[in-house]
Amino acid sequence: MSQEPAPSIAAAVRGELLPPEAQPGCSDCQRFRTLERIVLANDDESFAVDVRILWREHLAELHGLAPSVSPAA
Ligand SMILES: [Zn+2]
Repeated sequence: MSQEPAPSIAAAVRGELLPPEAQPGCSDCQRFRTLERIVLANDDESFAVDVRILWREHLAELHGLAPSVSPAA
């Protein structure tokens, strides 16, 4: 049996998590949102996934928000 990553990480890799939300008044969140829009505008989905993973880590560490898995997953 191979070890599976944590469910939230596996879901994030598969892009099944809900999009992160920028927290009001947080300049880092604004930067993540701007970066995500630029990346998506360039159709770079794999980079967009990386941005969301980093953004969710920021949300968890600085805002205490745990990643939420999509109910449809
Ligand atoms: Zn933030």
